[in-house]
Amino acid sequence: MTVSVLGGGIAGLSTLYYLSLRQNIPRVKLFEASSRFGGWVKSSIDKNTGVVFETGPRSLRPVGAVGLTTLELIEKLGIDDKVVPVHRSHVAAKNRMVYAKNKVCMMPNGPGGLIKTIPPFSKPLFFAGLKDIFTGKSKVPLEDESIYDFIARRFGKEIADYAISPVICGICAGDAKEISVKFLFKEIFEKEQKYGGVIKGAIKGRKDKKPEVPIEKTSFMNQAKNEGWSLYRMQDGIEIIPKRIVEKLTDNENFEMNLNSACEQISFKNDEAHISINGTNQPAQHVVSTLPAFTLAKLIDQQHPILANELHAIPYVDVAVINLLYKKENLLKDKGFGVLIAPSENMPILGIIFDSCIVDCNDSTVLTVMSGGRWFDKHYGKDSSDEKLLSAALDGISKILGINEKPDIFEVHLNRQCIPQYVVGHHQRVERIRKYVSDNKLPLSLGGAAFDGVGVNDVIMSSKNIANGLKF
Ligand SMILES: Cc1cc2nc3c(=O)[nH]c(=O)nc-3n(C[C@H](O)[C@H](O)[C@H](O)COP(=O)(O)OP(=O)(O)OC[C@H]3O[C@@H](n4cnc5c(N)ncnc54)[C@H](O)[C@@H]3O)c2cc1C
Repeated sequence: MTVSVLGGGIAGLSTLYYLSLRQNIPRVKLFEASSRFGGWVKSSIDKNTGVVFETGPRSLRPVGAVGLTTLELIEKLGIDDKVVPVHRSHVAAKNRMVYAKNKVCMMPNGPGGLIKTIPPFSKPLFFAGLKDIFTGKSKVPLEDESIYDFIARRFGKEIADYAISPVICGICAGDAKEISVKFLFKEIFEKEQKYGGVIKGAIKGRKDKKPEVPIEKTSFMNQAKNEGWSLYRMQDGIEIIPKRIVEKLTDNENFEMNLNSACEQISFKNDEAHISINGTNQPAQHVVSTLPAFTLAKLIDQQHPILANELHAIPYVDVAVINLLYKKENLLKDKGFGVLIAPSENMPILGIIFDSCIVDCNDSTVLTVMSGGRWFDKHYGKDSSDEKLLSAALDGISKILGINEKPDIFEVHLNRQCIPQYVVGHHQRVERIRKYVSDNKLPLSLGGAAFDGVGVNDVIMSSKNIANGLKF
């Protein structure tokens, strides 16, 4: 039997890794279109300062089953000594800022915000809680709605505008008015629908909690819990995870990992898949796709247009990442994780991450600006040159943080179509997609960021489930 894995990002590579842990493994071939493994996970170390620049993901959260699964992978790969934890008591875990109403506002991080008015909010958050308690159920039961509508309906528009919308920009560079409530709050939403409120749902639905997938806790996982890690980064960058997987599997004769091998078409015939790679036919008894949904759609379009249409309907956004290093310590007035920009400010940038507050950056101030996202075309139109992206980032830093100096080192990366958007109806769409695959008995598993979560933790968990679920 041959299993073909399409895409050599973290999803494809972790699928291979989890397959390698199973008995009687079939032959596994991975095909990656580009000349490197890792996909969006990409880190570089500046030669002069030793500072790590991340082009894609940079922080991971160690919580929940998905968080523990990544910790487990890191430990199995023998790179647990490279973890740089940020504890809950650290300033970067406590101080989260939002730029709204033309100023930087420190988000409430304790009970004080409940009884005091803290800008950008015009009243204490206690009133938002009251609104939830006294607002009844929606008139008709809802299958889904936008995360913005849900929060505005339960807690008021201010919370939706200044607390939730910037967070959605930070997580998926998306517009909270389009993103499904189930993206972040699936369980809360379902209980709200059942019990008529978020607070009521939390109290009355305490026992409804679905049992979590049991994970055998290792001492490393317990360390994360006992020491109260809020998040962590990897010394030398997150790319060490895919790199280490490649190293581990390179000499394993069951696995073949191919670079510069773009899949051009997939067809299914007599329980077999035929994959066209650089003009040659590669038969496989099973295919695991970790490709972006729009790429997979093009590959199967001829034979399965209905499935292709569903996959095409998952939108993606462009995000520019601008890494900046100033050879001066303490340029930041307030320390913290960073500042997210409320979309109501109508700025081209989505947020600024204060890297040098989170990890040691050798006496430099290091910042990362995320730009564009759902509003990329609106702000950059046809001119998305590095100069324009850098200039928008520096304007934003000047306006928001009052830093007017030129960075000593900078990198500009434009990541086209890099984050899938789980818009209203996404979950139902994914169910239809999986039903189509199952009804048509296609030997195809769907992994990667398009389906079951957009973060690194989510795709690793999904790869683990796919690898463990494969029958051979
Ligand atoms: C700017 C940015 C910041 C992020 N920050 C965070 C963060 O801080 N924390 C977090 O948890 N997550 C973050 N994420 C999300 C995280 O990066 C993704 O969840 C993860 O990298 C997705 O991995 P993947 O393997 O599913 O997809 P990808 O990385 O997209 O991998 C897919 C691979 O398929 C290859 N490919 C494409 N077409 C073909 C083809 N025809 N044939 C063969 N191969 C093909 C591509 O070259 C690519 O290598 C961020 C993402 C971005 C873009």
